[in-house]
Amino acid sequence: MSSSNRIQAQTLLKSARILEAPVDVEKIAKILGFTIIPFPFPEKRKGMVLIENGVKAIGVNEKHPVTLQRYTIGHELGHFINGHAHFENAFIEDETIFYDHHFQQEREADSFAAELLMPKDFLENDLALNRIDESQLLGKYLVSKQALWVRLNTLRLAEKYSYLRSS
Ligand SMILES: [Zn+2]
Repeated sequence: MSSSNRIQAQTLLKSARILEAPVDVEKIAKILGFTIIPFPFPEKRKGMVLIENGVKAIGVNEKHPVTLQRYTIGHELGHFINGHAHFENAFIEDETIFYDHHFQQEREADSFAAELLMPKDFLENDLALNRIDESQLLGKYLVSKQALWVRLNTLRLAEKYSYLRSS
């Protein structure tokens, strides 16, 4: 599941000629045929993906910070890439508890978002070659602190580059 998300993200980054962070997630969405629509959703709603009659749209909460909006777009694209969002289906993202069969899909969509916004090889270059610290990583990747640390821990980069902890 995550290896397939990684390959899909790498292929998209390559075709968009994106070689370093920040990843232009709107460009990736456009390549996949999606229009991004900022929308005044209620605070708890992050966004939604809609595919209907050949129209592909991702709505993002216009009141949310850019870092969260970028993650939401990546997450919604993850539903599409993993085949969750079928025609005449809309995925609506609430910060509520998902039913079991949805929970796995949410994890897969999150996994794709992480692979797209924080590619393993981009991070490894920045850490091994450039030795950039936490605040520089946040500024460069335009992701939330929480998303960054989940990614660093998942890839075991936090333990490999222990200087990050003290930055
Ligand atoms: Zn979702």
